[in-house]
Amino acid sequence: MSDLAPEPAAPATPDRKGVGGFVRRYWLEVTLWKRILLGLVLGTILGLAIGEQAMGIKWIGDLFVRLIRMIVTPLVFFSIVSGIAGMGDVKRLGSIGAKTLFMYLALTVVAVSVGLSLGVLFQPGAGMDFAGTTPQVLGEAPTLGAYLMSIVPLNPFAALSNGDIPAIIFFAILIGMGVLIIGEPAAPAVRLFQIGSDIMLVLVRVIMELAPFGVFALVAWVMGTSGPETFIHVFLLACALVLGCAIQSLIVHGGVIGLIARLPVVPFFRDIADAVIVAFSTSSSAAVLPVAMRVAEKNLGVSHTVASTTLPLGATLSMDGTALYVALLAVFSAQAFGVDMSVAQYFMVGLVCVIVAVGTAPVPSASLFMLAAVLQVIGLSAEQTALVVGFILPFDRILDMTRTVPNATSDLVVAVTVAKWEGELDEVAYRAKPVE
Ligand code: ASP
Repeated sequence: MSDLAPEPAAPATPDRKGVGGFVRRYWLEVTLWKRILLGLVLGTILGLAIGEQAMGIKWIGDLFVRLIRMIVTPLVFFSIVSGIAGMGDVKRLGSIGAKTLFMYLALTVVAVSVGLSLGVLFQPGAGMDFAGTTPQVLGEAPTLGAYLMSIVPLNPFAALSNGDIPAIIFFAILIGMGVLIIGEPAAPAVRLFQIGSDIMLVLVRVIMELAPFGVFALVAWVMGTSGPETFIHVFLLACALVLGCAIQSLIVHGGVIGLIARLPVVPFFRDIADAVIVAFSTSSSAAVLPVAMRVAEKNLGVSHTVASTTLPLGATLSMDGTALYVALLAVFSAQAFGVDMSVAQYFMVGLVCVIVAVGTAPVPSASLFMLAAVLQVIGLSAEQTALVVGFILPFDRILDMTRTVPNATSDLVVAVTVAKWEGELDEVAYRAKPVE
């Protein structure tokens, strides 16, 4: 099982009287995901009731997201180094790494196929009119070569201070390998990194106590400022996206758990609720990472070694919802501009979507600004791409909340499956109900 630091012991006979007792009974002792769900529901109601005024409480959500993002850099660094150093043998790194990358790639390819198929089926762009849309200025989409080169940091300390996750992962893997190669004399370093990683996970647990309030404020803001009519304007696109994300998370990811990892599916979805709700409310895979690490080790019984190698990689590389969304938007744009896509173009678009999903930053709306790379394939100009982005941007928050969910579930599916293959899954913990 995990090397997580122990939970603080509860007092032998908790005081159940007075205000303290009330708070403990009706708040602290209630499972976290239920409290977060309550925040989500109350936030929705408040946002719809007070509209734009919900801006006033957005700072609570921003504070929660800042706290959780604060922990990402040290958590990724300490957990990867300690995960690899704890492997005891460099060969195991190769075995876990190869399986992880293969799974992530395969799931992304499936997600892109789902997105393209739903685009053809729903025809969300047919009869579109971009009159009245303000074009948006887009950044240059990085080439694959430039992206790969940027993974090697010129200065690892600059990468750490800038929170450049792919570069931090690369550096942390090398440090972990160095510790493995040195062997016995590096034992104190292994212990140090392990303790560092435990401390970060304890901090995540404390920060997550704020999640119900953060989720409440973020959802109230989204509902209050964009409102449910957001869905009406891009109704078909939103329907196709919601359906696609449901297919990817429930059927594809659930299928991998049931048929490939050969584990019961219900405990998986029950145990990852915290990560799913944080993905939905923050729209950021980076913000989900600390929660996913905790969920994987504590609820799903994934070993520290596997969780700390698969999840940080997944948070940055594997974005099933994003891949699906970008593919869907490509078909949407082709329909809107009357481009008749050939079979070869579908393949090319699919390939570029996989690359774009790998290169997308794990933060809100990131994929939208990578769209230029995909739309080039079907011959759309920079101006036409800017129009599409300008059209989608006002509605993107809700679409982003939806697509970030499969981004998170794909990481956890891969962590569980690789742990099962490697004999690093505590199946008793996996099947047991999570303890708060
Ligand atoms: N918001 C997504 C994430 O962080 C990225 C995107 O699709 O824009 O996973």
